[in-house]
This record gives sequence, structure tokens and C-alpha cells, in this order.
Amino acid sequence: MAPLTNGKVPKSTKMHSKVVIIGSGPAGHTAAVYLARANINPVLFEGFMANGFAAGGQLTTTTDVENYPGFPSGILGPELMDKFREQSIRFGTQIITETVSKIDLSARPFRYWREGEEHDEAETADAIIIATGASAKRLGLKGEVTYWQSGISACAVCDGAVPIFRNQPLAVIGGGDSAAEEATYLTKYGSHVYVLVRRSELRASKIMAKRLMNHPKITILWNTVATECQGDGDLLNNLRIKNVVTGEERDLPVRGLFYAIGHEPATSLVRSQLQTDLDGYIITVPGTTQTSVKGVFAAGDVQDKRYRQAITSAGSGCMAALEAERLIAEEEGSEEA
Ligand code: FAD
Repeated sequence: MAPLTNGKVPKSTKMHSKVVIIGSGPAGHTAAVYLARANINPVLFEGFMANGFAAGGQLTTTTDVENYPGFPSGILGPELMDKFREQSIRFGTQIITETVSKIDLSARPFRYWREGEEHDEAETADAIIIATGASAKRLGLKGEVTYWQSGISACAVCDGAVPIFRNQPLAVIGGGDSAAEEATYLTKYGSHVYVLVRRSELRASKIMAKRLMNHPKITILWNTVATECQGDGDLLNNLRIKNVVTGEERDLPVRGLFYAIGHEPATSLVRSQLQTDLDGYIITVPGTTQTSVKGVFAAGDVQDKRYRQAITSAGSGCMAALEAERLIAEEEGSEEA
């Protein structure tokens, strides 16, 4: 079957698929490549600005990706995602540029609807892979939009090593374990790291907090919030900060600002139907991508609050595909027997 890209299946043909993948980041496309090569004919909904992201996901919003294996000179995020897409199509994945807006996981085959077509007859799938991703929470500070990815980042592991941050003063916002981890990681690159903590104590675990407080390149600014991101129009070079106890405001000249205030998993579609944790991440059986509903698998950032990397997302996309394929093979085998 010729791959159908940017396609709409006419409403009169109610589509049934063995496996539907929802989401088009590294997790969704890796799942598609594996399923397509296994002749499962997967259908991948890449979304139309779903969750605020273009098809291809979070990496479409960045420039150089330097830690994805296989690209020794690095690769631009959008280019990498074009390659993922090309590979999915090469093996026959049907990619649909629409957003899935409603889903019913109460019985198999599962039913789902496309955005704007919620009143139509549902389309169905024997198995579903949820790979809808996540997005970094933002603070909505003045100047944040101007300097987002031009000095402001939500991922120290992704961006810490880029030249603009080398030997420069940096700041991290947050008081939990991830803030502690990000700040410690950034000491490898920055000249000094300031951690802005809104309260007078850290939420981080004792061991992480101790490491943070004893680090010679880290200064914790207690009871402190950022109020404005300033720069030269191209790159960030200053933060206005405020002590919430004294009300005092001052400048903190930094070249990098890293948010460690959490991510929002894109789970509104399934939150009431699948088991999720308190932050809304889909819970999977450890070591697998199996969710609380048989036949529904979750891959990528939507189920991973710890690593949140392209390669880990791709890895779990592969796992989801292999698990979905095995389930379908078992069920087809038992039907034949
Ligand atoms: P995502 O990339 O989040 O993509 C999910 C996709 O699914 C989106 O396109 C979304 O529109 C779509 N979608 C959502 N809901 C629906 C729906 N209902 N219907 C249809 N489609 C839907 N990682 C690295 O390893 N190296 C880096 O250098 C790096 N840099 C980064 C820079 C930035 C600015 C950001 C934001 C992230 C970076 N990351 C990096 C992290 C990496 O991008 C993520 O870990 C990875 O993209 C997660 O992949 P995913 O497949 O889970 O989903």
C-alpha cells in the first residue's frame, strides 16, 4: 500500500487499524518504523499543532541536537525529525496530519475520534500507542518569550554544553531534585550557578540538597523569584530578581537561565481512563510500556518524568512497538487455534 501522508480517510470509510500511534516525536516514529517493518501497517496521527507543537514534537523547537547517537557533528532538531518521518514513511506507515481529540479505551477494539469530527462514527484500533509527549512548564516572565531558547532553556542536559553558556554565570529556577541535578550538571560548563529558590528551604532530597549547598560553584538565593528576563534583543544577559521576604529587587547578570519547575505530560486525552501519577504521567508496568489497560502502550516523555531525552523516547517507542506486535501475534494465533 502506498503511504498516505497528510491524508484524510473519507468519512464514509470507518478506518480500523491493528495499531494506531498517537504522537509524532521520537517515540511515535520509532514505534512506527518497527511496526511498519513487521508488516503491521501502523497508522500514526502526527497532530496539527497538538499540545502546542508542530508535527515532529519538541525537537522541532530547538536548533542543534548534539547527543543523539549517529550524528557525530550534531543535527538540527527539525532536520532530525524530518528524518524520523521519512523513515516511518519508507516502510509504509500511514501518517495522518490530524489531532486525536477523543478516545474510548473502555473496550476493544478501542475507539477514537479526530479533532472536529467528534460526532462522527468512531474509528477503531486493536492496540494504541500513546506517544503524545510533554511540554516544559513556563513562568510567563516578562522577556521570557524573547529569550526562550536564546539563553533560556528547560533542559540542562540538552543545552548546558552549548558555547553561549561556557564559562558564563548561569541560573536555575526550582527547589526540587531536578533543580539540584540541573544545577550540579551545569557547574561543568558555567563559571558559577545561582539557584533561585522561592522558599527558605529546598524540596530536594537531603542528599541532593547537601550536594547543592556544599558545591563551591553554586550559590543558592533563598526566598528569591525572577521577575524579568533581559538581554540585547538576541541573547539573555540579565535577570531581574526579587527577594519575596524583603521585597528588594536587583540585577543578576547571567547568560543562561534553566527552568527546573517541571513538565506537563500531554495526557488530557487519556487521564481519566489510564492510571497516571499525581503529575499526570502515564504509569507503565516497570520495564515495559504496558499501561493499566491491556492493549494500550505509552512511550516517550508522556510516561517518563526522569530522563526526557530523544534517545530514551525512541527506545521506549521501540519497546511499545514490540509489545504491541507481540500482543497482536498472540491474539491472532489464539484465534487461528
Ligand atoms: P514529543 O517530542 O513531545 O512529541 C509529541 C508529539 O505528539 C507532538 O508533536 C505533539 O504535537 C503530538 N501530539 C500530542 N498530542 C497529540 C494528539 N492528541 N494527536 C496527535 N498528535 C499529538 N532531547 C535530547 O535528547 N537532546 C536534545 O538536545 C534535546 N533538546 C531539546 C530542546 C528543547 C527546546 C526541548 C523542548 C526538548 C529537547 N529535548 C532534547 C527533549 C526531547 O525533545 C524530548 O525528550 C522528546 O522529543 C520526547 O519525545 P516524544 O516522542 O515523547 O514526544
